[in-house]
Amino acid sequence: MNIEIESLAVVGAGSMGHGIAEVAAMAGYDVVMRDIEPDIVESGYDQIEWSLNKLAEKGQLDEEPEAVLGRIETTTDLAAAVESVDLVIEAAPEDLEIKREIFADADAASEPETVIATNTSSLRVSDIAEATDRPDRCCGLHFFNPPVKMDLVEVVSGEQTNDAVAKAAYEFVESIEKTPILVRKDVPQFVVNNVLTPFMGEAAWMLDEEAASISEMDAAMTFHRGYPMGPFELNDFGGLDIFAHTREQWNDPVPESVQSRVEAGDLGRKTGRGFYEYEDSKGADYAPDQGAGVDTVRIEARMINEAAKLVGDGVADPEDIDVGMRLGGGLPEGTCRTADKLGLDVVLRKLRELYEATGAKRYEPAEYLVELVNAGHTGEDAGRGFYDYADGGPYHYISHELTDDGRLNVLFDREERLNAFSTDMFDELQRVLETVNDEEVSVVVFEGAGDRAFSAGADITGFTTAEPTELMYVDEAIQAVYEFPRPTVAKIDGFCLGAGMEITLACDIRIATEGSTLGSPEINLGLIPGGGGTQRLVRLLGEPRTKELVFTGEPISAQKAADWGILNRAVPEDEFESDVEQTVSNIANGPQTALEVAKSVINEGQNASLDAALALESQGFGLLTTTDDMLEGVAAFKGDRDPNFSE
Ligand code: NAD
Repeated sequence: MNIEIESLAVVGAGSMGHGIAEVAAMAGYDVVMRDIEPDIVESGYDQIEWSLNKLAEKGQLDEEPEAVLGRIETTTDLAAAVESVDLVIEAAPEDLEIKREIFADADAASEPETVIATNTSSLRVSDIAEATDRPDRCCGLHFFNPPVKMDLVEVVSGEQTNDAVAKAAYEFVESIEKTPILVRKDVPQFVVNNVLTPFMGEAAWMLDEEAASISEMDAAMTFHRGYPMGPFELNDFGGLDIFAHTREQWNDPVPESVQSRVEAGDLGRKTGRGFYEYEDSKGADYAPDQGAGVDTVRIEARMINEAAKLVGDGVADPEDIDVGMRLGGGLPEGTCRTADKLGLDVVLRKLRELYEATGAKRYEPAEYLVELVNAGHTGEDAGRGFYDYADGGPYHYISHELTDDGRLNVLFDREERLNAFSTDMFDELQRVLETVNDEEVSVVVFEGAGDRAFSAGADITGFTTAEPTELMYVDEAIQAVYEFPRPTVAKIDGFCLGAGMEITLACDIRIATEGSTLGSPEINLGLIPGGGGTQRLVRLLGEPRTKELVFTGEPISAQKAADWGILNRAVPEDEFESDVEQTVSNIANGPQTALEVAKSVINEGQNASLDAALALESQGFGLLTTTDDMLEGVAAFKGDRDPNFSE
């Protein structure tokens, strides 16, 4: 089955539908958007226009809003919408009958090859696809709200979805610059909501048992475990009725603390009261010192158990689950990675304890978890858990690639957090530089994923509970950048703050777009730069400017950073790629040994007396006079041609 997706129809112009239409049109697709009434579909179109104008104002749109709008057609006629498109995405209300009707109508009105997808969050894709004569060409495309901002899409295979359809849907998601994860089986709630539900659910069960208070549990999960919101705060945010309804839909019991609030109409933020008060009160209210002593493992054990079921049942891979939890669930790290750090034996013990005490099915350990523990795969300390750590383990936050001409491209790949560095991410950075064969590298280019940040700093979510020693070794990773024997280039587009600034300062060459912002804002957190920032800055800028930067924490523009000598230069956005490319290719084609010696003499000489530094330089010079590259350089100079260096 060969499927090419070039055009699509979105059925439903509500919160999700108009957002999906917008991102597809932004990626260059022709989109027909359909809703039941002209004013509803027009209102969806107006919302797209508003959003595109906002993106344009922020410089986040590559073309004029009108050009994107020109690719969107609106209609109330379903048959007209779907008759000549390759993909239909249904984003109508979460009601099985409505969705089945739309699928049946789309089936009748579209070409037989058209793929029909649903954006359902909680229904089974197979139940919807059954309404068509082409269940093999149906799948789930679960976008997150709002589609323009949320990067994740779960690509769900129903019972009969053809692999080629899932593959085409996956590629479509990539083509609209979103991140797909594969959900290979049609399980209730797919991956992200499946793993996230016990985060809220287990905290509520603990509240029922009076094991801890609402504020204590929220404080423990945010300040101690680094989650962006506490479980009760999150439940209030999403709506307690939605939580309860989904539990009932899958015949799961609902904790009394949720049920009683739903019955009283206290559904969370939207009604002004849920677990917290929102009217005339500041809402979620908890402080760092409240979290001590809460059994956080109990909450995480249940999330990990769900992840283990998904892996064991062949629904999703640990990598995809972790990407999903980070991008869709907003977690600082994936649940499988958290599990490997906690220890799967610890997790299993906790589940067994709870299962024996209550007999409740939700604590029944996943078979896969038991298998891993029985095999001794208890996590990172054992060398294997969800992941294999034999070679240091997988890279979650740093991608790297060594090209044939010796460029090592290192991408800080944590766009959802503006590429902020967690301790894992520092470890991965250090690992890349220490494990690559530097003989094969001619130049390293460091870059941030996305167009908003090089790196916005260190991830402070782990700061409140980390041991000082854990945070202090950050310096080792940055030192590894500084000491890497080959030339390094910081390619900066967007925020370059805190740890991002320190990595930049450890690089040899620093080029930024004019719109970039640099700074050392640590003082605002009651800290100082801890990865060499104060010392590299003072050597570069002298005292007054360094002290101003560090004492005020105020960021500066790329132009000012260039004027001060922090950057080699700040260049207009449209010249950035070619400017960096020219510098990088110049170095990549240069004499490698001479470049290495030049770097080492310049770096080491700075910390030596002038006499010692001059001696270093002349030693280096002497060494190079014996190389083939020197002979080639001289011959090329004499022959008035470009040299062809080999070392
Ligand atoms: P919504 O109520 O904002 O929009 C639904 C739209 O569908 C409405 O404009 C409605 O007029 C229209 N509609 C109703 N019947 C229709 C029909 N027969 N043909 C075409 N349009 C029809 O709902 P939403 O929040 O956009 O959710 C849509 C779907 O996306 C649901 O399945 C929901 O579960 C799922 N979803 C929602 C979110 C979220 O956070 N809102 C996130 C992920 C997925």
